[in-house]
Amino acid sequence: MRMPALFVGHGSPMNAIEDNDFTKGWVQMAEKLPQPKVILSISAHWYTDGTRVNNDPAPRTIYDMYGFPKELYEIVYDAPGSPEAAEAVLNQLSQHAHLCVADNSWGIDHGTWSVLHRMYPDRRIPVLQLSINGRADAKTHFDIGRSLSELRDQGVMILGSGNVVHNLRRVQMQRADGFDWAYEFDGYIRDNMVRREVEAILDHSQAGDCAKLAFPTPEHYDPLLYVLGASRDDDRLTVFNEACVMGSVSMTSYAYHNVEIK
Ligand code: ZN
Repeated sequence: MRMPALFVGHGSPMNAIEDNDFTKGWVQMAEKLPQPKVILSISAHWYTDGTRVNNDPAPRTIYDMYGFPKELYEIVYDAPGSPEAAEAVLNQLSQHAHLCVADNSWGIDHGTWSVLHRMYPDRRIPVLQLSINGRADAKTHFDIGRSLSELRDQGVMILGSGNVVHNLRRVQMQRADGFDWAYEFDGYIRDNMVRREVEAILDHSQAGDCAKLAFPTPEHYDPLLYVLGASRDDDRLTVFNEACVMGSVSMTSYAYHNVEIK
């Protein structure tokens, strides 16, 4: 069975402990989708020079967020790692001429664990992270995702964790909805995801002025490109948690899967 490729808008780290519509959406999606053997996560929060993969049999939890309640720092997402899956990632990428090295200087960061702590709280499914190549252009992120697509047939779920709209310079913490331009950009991406217009997503500037505000730096957008690359023409696409919050953050999430889900 082919495992899903999933892009999750993670938003605030508080989603790890708060109950809201988004965390409900994550839990429901975990119940509906087939259970993977391994989760390969591409988090906005591991952004490196070149591509790296974690092959630690027991990756540590990274607390890469500041000024949050103590409860968040007490979460230990101690799922096992998967050196075997890391080896498979290295093989797949080298076959497609993408340079990737094993690197255990990082671990499981909050982009990954804030989501998985809700989706798979029992921490039994092995997890490893692939970094975002900070030197790569949009097409290369997509191509790396495509090179990893075959792993979905070997029990690996590909998880991208970021936010389609992520502009912390404009954020208004108390605001429940989004700015007009945030909805416009989020809707542009949703429409093109649904139509499978890959070029329009790789060149997001085609969205117009709203694209200039959507994200000042691309690390939260890039995981979507890996997931899009890992999708197949015969996948179904489920859009969930479609919303903008705090003015300038989109929570909209996408699941590619080839089994029917309700
Ligand atoms: Zn983040």
